[in-house]
Amino acid sequence: MHTNTSGKEVTRSTATPAYIVRRAGVRMTRQRRAVIEVLLKSYDHPTAAQIYERAKELLPGISLATVYNCIESLAAQRLINQLHFDNGPCRFCPNVEPHVHVMDDASNRVLDVQLKEGLTPEDVFELPEGVHIKSMEAYLRGEIPENCLTENKK
Ligand SMILES: [Zn+2]
Repeated sequence: MHTNTSGKEVTRSTATPAYIVRRAGVRMTRQRRAVIEVLLKSYDHPTAAQIYERAKELLPGISLATVYNCIESLAAQRLINQLHFDNGPCRFCPNVEPHVHVMDDASNRVLDVQLKEGLTPEDVFELPEGVHIKSMEAYLRGEIPENCLTENKK
C-alpha cells in the first residue's frame, strides 16, 4: 500500500493519473494520462495490446510504442505490477495493495482477491519454522462470474 505526503493511504480506488505521474517523477502528457486512465479502469488485467486498444478509444492518435514505453516505465518503478501467467503475454495490474490473482478458466481474465480481513499469509499456509512472508505473488485458477470482472466493481 502506498502512502502519499498527507499520510493518507492511496489505493487503486483513490489513485489518479496525476498521482501516479507524480510518483513516477515524469511530466503529465495526454498519452500518459490515457494509459493510466485505462489501467485504473481495467479490472481484468489487460495485456499491453489490450491497453493500447483501450487507450486508442480515449486518444485515437496514440502509438503502440508510446503505450509500451509508458507501461514499462510504470512497471519498472513498481507503480503497476507486471504479471506473467503461463506462456501468455505479460498482463498489467494497477492494484498495489497485497493481493493474489484468480484466473478464469474460460476467458483467461484475472481477478484480484485479498486475504480475508485480519488474516496474514502465515495464518493460511503451513510455513516451515523461520520462513517469513514479505510479499505475495500467487495465482489460482477457477470460474469467475462475469459481474466480478466488470469495470464498476471496486
Ligand atoms: Zn492484480
